[in-house]
Amino acid sequence: MPQRKTAAKSKKGTPARKTARKAAARSAPKKAAPKKAAFKLTYATMFDPPEELHTRFDASLAKLKAELGREHGMIIDGKEVRAEDKFEDRSPINTDWLLGIFQKGTAQDAQAALAAARKAFPKWSHTPYPERARLLRKAADLIDKRIYEFGAVISLEVGKNRMEALGDAAETADLIRYACDQLLANKGYVRPMGKDPLKGFQATNTSVLKPYGVWLVISPFNFPCALTGGPLGSALAAGNTVVMKPATDTPWTVRLIAECLRDAGLPDGVFNFVTGPGSTLGQALISSPDVDGITFTGSLDIGMHIFREFANGKYVRPTILELGGKNPVIVSRKADLERAATGIVRSAFGLQGQKCSAGSRVFIERPVYQPLVERLMAMTQKLQIGDCTRREVWMGPVVNQSSYRDFQTFCEEISQAGGKFLTGGKVLQDGERAKGYFCTPTFVADLPFTHRLWQHEMFLPITTVAAVDSLDQAMTLANDVNYGLTAGFYGSEKEAEWFFDKIEAGVTYANRPQGATTGAWPGFQPFGGWKGSGSSGKNAGGTYYLPLYMHEQIHTLVR
Ligand code: NDP
Repeated sequence: MPQRKTAAKSKKGTPARKTARKAAARSAPKKAAPKKAAFKLTYATMFDPPEELHTRFDASLAKLKAELGREHGMIIDGKEVRAEDKFEDRSPINTDWLLGIFQKGTAQDAQAALAAARKAFPKWSHTPYPERARLLRKAADLIDKRIYEFGAVISLEVGKNRMEALGDAAETADLIRYACDQLLANKGYVRPMGKDPLKGFQATNTSVLKPYGVWLVISPFNFPCALTGGPLGSALAAGNTVVMKPATDTPWTVRLIAECLRDAGLPDGVFNFVTGPGSTLGQALISSPDVDGITFTGSLDIGMHIFREFANGKYVRPTILELGGKNPVIVSRKADLERAATGIVRSAFGLQGQKCSAGSRVFIERPVYQPLVERLMAMTQKLQIGDCTRREVWMGPVVNQSSYRDFQTFCEEISQAGGKFLTGGKVLQDGERAKGYFCTPTFVADLPFTHRLWQHEMFLPITTVAAVDSLDQAMTLANDVNYGLTAGFYGSEKEAEWFFDKIEAGVTYANRPQGATTGAWPGFQPFGGWKGSGSSGKNAGGTYYLPLYMHEQIHTLVR
């Protein structure tokens, strides 16, 4: 036995060699244990967050709830500005919760904000682009630093569940950084051009992209953070100065962005934050000749109104419009139905169907119609609806009383037209839910294709579902709307190629369980629409977007 042991030892190495190996192992850098990748929050990763995220969200929420109802000013030329009239910001979760008091800005405030932006423009536009990027990245870092506060405010103000709310804030910081990255990668958009074939002279030609001047950013209620901070980040990175006006339902979230810009050290007047009704303050802003360009995100109706209003100016000004959607999902008989159902439910009812990218029309090949509908119904019945600041709740309220009434009117209209409610079709008024605007997630079948609600963006948790005889029929119906924002498909890879080729939409997904039509992230899925869904044909969070905020100048210098 001992001999064998010795033999075994000598096979592995003598004791002396062993000691040397041990010493070497001690001095050598330790073999790193496989590192856990840091959690990156996106709309596609938000379904399984680390525990810490919940704890920190809860702590921020508790702190905020203890100090609700404060008054917040506008910020014009770096100063806090109060208006004579005010308006209340109440939570759609519970209208007893007064979140804050905000200023009802007037046409004079609009003029003051535009004048401040005009005054700040020469210096900001001549600030070296790396310095502009540095300040904006600092603002993005401040958003990240305050992300749980942002998340809690967004959840209370919009009625988003906590993950969607945190996603909105994280996306904002990423959009601002993306604009900075593009600016730096393109070296401020100064490019040498070809040399003229001149005899006796030497000439250099240079293309320079320069900012326009004063940029107006008007944002909607549903992504108050990303759809203010995204356009604003690009406008400022490009060297424009900005006036921003949030939706009346969501001034608090946008006030937080303004604070981050201020605290990052952006000079006075470079950004200006005004609050008040679209019909008065907003109207005064869009009809002013002092606006050099606009990014408006909102409904098709208001977008077209702005487009026409801008046409009254002395000349054409850049008008970036990001508008509504009526997003289709097509399901082939070859689809993975479990995956399709998961993606459809998430995109139909995430944020209560109030996403421009919501999946609001579903076309299913007849052989798989019944089994898919059964899955959709089963999954929908499991959704928790209520106070969406709570961890377990996935669906919150719709944003305000007008949307709540619209939901009831549309349901009545659907009933009268012979539509059948596969799920939902009613509002919830039991217990605490009586104090907010809670609607049930509603799948509708048997609505005739000729009915107007197949075309109209309801912007509510109502999605119409139908069986089709072929994928070609589905595609014809899918494209037969004025909108072209997002679209989803479930089927084979070959069919997915056909789908990408035929569908008329700016953001398209195939076989995605994280959301059939929703969940784009800057740098991964740049976001924008075709047809009535957008004016520029270039998507935010993508490589072609930032140049929209600049006009080109050619410098030809002959020596
Ligand atoms: P609205 O069009 O109602 O409002 C958008 C903004 O416009 C608000 O700030 C509003 O202010 C303002 N506004 C209203 N009237 C005027 C006016 N006459 N002049 C200037 N500004 C005005 O949209 P919602 O807020 O209801 O948002 C939902 C819509 O936004 C949906 O159609 C959705 O599809 C679309 N959307 C599009 C996205 C995209 O990327 N394509 C993304 C997100 C949403 P006030 O609130 O004070 O009325």
